[in-house]
Amino acid sequence: MTNLIDGRAIAEQIHSETAQRVTALKSRGVQPSLMFVRVGDDPASKVYVGMKEKTAARLGILSETRVLPDSTTESELLALIHKLNADSAVHGILVQAPLPRHISETNIYSTVLPQKDVDGFHPENVGKLMLGDKTGFLPCTPAGVHELLIRSGTKMDGAEVVVLGRGNIVGKPMAAILIQKDKNANATVTVCHSKTRDISAHCRRADILIAALGSPEFVKADMIKPGAVVIDVGVNRISDPAAKGGSRLVGDVDFTAVQKVAGKITPNPGGVGPMTIAMLMQNTVRAAELLAKS
Ligand code: NAP
Repeated sequence: MTNLIDGRAIAEQIHSETAQRVTALKSRGVQPSLMFVRVGDDPASKVYVGMKEKTAARLGILSETRVLPDSTTESELLALIHKLNADSAVHGILVQAPLPRHISETNIYSTVLPQKDVDGFHPENVGKLMLGDKTGFLPCTPAGVHELLIRSGTKMDGAEVVVLGRGNIVGKPMAAILIQKDKNANATVTVCHSKTRDISAHCRRADILIAALGSPEFVKADMIKPGAVVIDVGVNRISDPAAKGGSRLVGDVDFTAVQKVAGKITPNPGGVGPMTIAMLMQNTVRAAELLAKS
């Protein structure tokens, strides 16, 4: 018997629901559309946007990528966002991180219209998440982890959850989702970071452990309460002379050892990554549905 939480299979379930919603929108004359903006030549960003474009096409969502040079100024990028905000044919806008250092991500994310902010990074959407106001858009990675927990039958109500990492993209919103007064939340959440004393002690109390640190194989088997659910969000490239190209990707969890102690665990790859894309597509279709209603 496997104890894997299969993110690819769960993402496919969500994709088929999303594709049905796309068909329904199209029958009403609405073509859901998603605009990607990529600045510079970061190789990982190219791969991520490419994967998202492919999935959008498979689900019938129209997508387009605007690629801008590294030398793009913040005001040029802001001008493009204003243009996309005003274009009623564009339902979702995703500005791929990282941006060049001379551009403020905060300024960019707060300029995307909240109704088109399918990444869930606009301060209005962040605020709605904190308030438990479901009219906003949730950030895709923590929303994807939440869906993994729901659809794998993991009990969150009353659970002790430890989130490793307090990043704005994963750790903080993850904690905010799980503390909400809701049957699929109601967790007691501890958030750990680089200043936390004795992280292992916190981890060993966790019924659900979510690792989002960006630290290769940080979580070891002796940090896990037997039977706990372990979700590995991390994506880390480490050098490995034996691997093709001299490096390979690993998560934040020492998978082979931790799998033996955990009740359930996400593989990495094949856990959280596919869910991030599934939630982006779901957010885009929702943005189109909301616009069609208004
Ligand atoms: P981030 O903003 O850099 O946050 C990392 C957090 O981890 C920080 O709070 C940091 O503490 C903490 N941390 C790092 N090393 C630590 C250590 N050794 N001990 C204790 N705390 C430590 O990163 P992020 O954007 O949230 O991303 C986290 C990971 O998730 C990365 O590997 C990223 O690639 C991955 N990710 C995956 C997906 C996906 O779709 N699969 C999506 C997004 C991100 P301080 O705050 O004290 O510095």
